[in-house]
Amino acid sequence: MSALGHRAIVMGSGIAGLLAARVLSPHFAEVVVFERDDEAATPGPRGGVMQGRQLHTLLASGLEVMERLMPGLERELLSRGAIRSPDVGLTARAFKFGSWTIAGAIDVAMITMTRPLLESCVRERVSAIPNVVFRYGEAVEEVVYDRVEGRVTGVDSSPVGVAPGVEPLPAALVVDARGRGAPVAQMFKAWGAEPPDEETLGLNVGYSTVIVKKPAGFSADWFSVLLASTPPDSPAGMMHPIEDDQWIMAFCGRGAAKPPAGWEPLLDYAGRLPQPTIRDCMRLSTPVGELKVYNFLAAVRRRFDRARFHPNGLLVVGDAVCSFNPLYGQGMSIAVLEAGILEGLLAGANEEASEWREALWRGFYAQIAPILDKAWGQSFALDGLYPETKVRRGPGFALRKAAFLWAQKLSITEPVLRRRMMRTAQLLPEAPIGLGDLAASQWRLWRGRGSRVSPATFQAPGEALGGASSAPGPARQEHAVGL
Ligand SMILES: Cc1cc2nc3c(=O)[nH]c(=O)nc-3n(C[C@H](O)[C@H](O)[C@H](O)COP(=O)(O)OP(=O)(O)OC[C@H]3O[C@@H](n4cnc5c(N)ncnc54)[C@H](O)[C@@H]3O)c2cc1C
Repeated sequence: MSALGHRAIVMGSGIAGLLAARVLSPHFAEVVVFERDDEAATPGPRGGVMQGRQLHTLLASGLEVMERLMPGLERELLSRGAIRSPDVGLTARAFKFGSWTIAGAIDVAMITMTRPLLESCVRERVSAIPNVVFRYGEAVEEVVYDRVEGRVTGVDSSPVGVAPGVEPLPAALVVDARGRGAPVAQMFKAWGAEPPDEETLGLNVGYSTVIVKKPAGFSADWFSVLLASTPPDSPAGMMHPIEDDQWIMAFCGRGAAKPPAGWEPLLDYAGRLPQPTIRDCMRLSTPVGELKVYNFLAAVRRRFDRARFHPNGLLVVGDAVCSFNPLYGQGMSIAVLEAGILEGLLAGANEEASEWREALWRGFYAQIAPILDKAWGQSFALDGLYPETKVRRGPGFALRKAAFLWAQKLSITEPVLRRRMMRTAQLLPEAPIGLGDLAASQWRLWRGRGSRVSPATFQAPGEALGGASSAPGPARQEHAVGL
């Protein structure tokens, strides 16, 4: 039953901590999850995850692995109000770099919901595992490192607001899932060790999210809307359906172009986006609850994969390893992919092998590195185009920028490249897109110049109400092949 020891401890019960507990549970007699927040009586936003009120997209890669770890989860989410698009390539309405993109199958289903719904369904699943014990309202104060043994041996915790006074709880393995605020550097320094290097992308980006009730009788032939920004201008907007016939709408801007806090100013802001679609939907809808603003200064990647020191018996997961620009919806899905990797490594670990702890962290950081490289690279490519972003762009940046812009523009109308780029953005396995792929895509466009592909004839918001509304909407869009 407990191949790797009596107890594993997980610090933090966000998405990363919950999934870590799930994959640890078959390998330890007990898994104790410490969570600083109190147990919630009903699913809802909570203090320990302040970003939980903002729009949260679960990428297809994350959904796929979550479903494998918790079979039937998708069905349960849908029964509790999540909404499914069988193929977002056909139903997502996207405007970028001055044009509506074409529609076309990419074989990617997506479900959308609020983050509290997703987290509560996952929490219920993990709480139902008999050997997982939650200690709510208890913050971990210290991770105990035994210098003689050269490993982490447990944690010191205390109820929130009470000084620690009890014996540390011993564990064979401790997982740090305390989110982006996890005090990793302090922890390593307290052990007299050098913390891992950090890479940062200074973003200075602001988000405003509002939930609205859809107008009665609204039935559109599209699922979601993305109005991407055109660098150097940064205002962008997106909306998708969630529980209870509602939409969640998020606006994003950088530096002086951050979105405002009130409903009326936000309507104005929505009107300044490259298309009025979201503003028109706002005008047809009723806001529900408060509008929430979140400032995100920097994405941070801690390079555990290159660290000169790492204690055995400790694993760091989720945002505590790497936090991303929220705009690309990567954070939760990366946490899920990490859990999938941890599951595989635990299956091959054996307490009899004395070095299993070292093999675990070495294998874990080595295997998550390519996934983080890919997600971080996608963010760097786009974020680097905005003057507000503070990052070392390096000598080859001008060339990479030209290739990136070329790819973006081609993918508006060229279906093969669009499919690959959309699947890559979902962190699905796709070969990297190189200059040869862009040339081939350009050739396909030239060859087919004048013919038409899958025109995206999405309805304007007013049309989706059967013409009952007077709200102005963009006319149906049609796209010719050729740039
Ligand atoms: C504005 C915004 C929008 C976002 N949108 C998306 C999106 O669309 N899609 C997406 O995938 N991601 C999105 N993200 C990122 C996503 O929220 C994170 O990647 C994800 O929450 C990381 O999960 P985590 O479990 O690592 O950390 P968290 O969710 O931050 O959880 C950390 C947990 O640790 C607990 N904790 C902290 N300290 C202690 C302690 N000392 N003792 C015990 N418990 C402790 C906290 O209470 C919390 O429960 C967004 C982020 C932001 C800021």
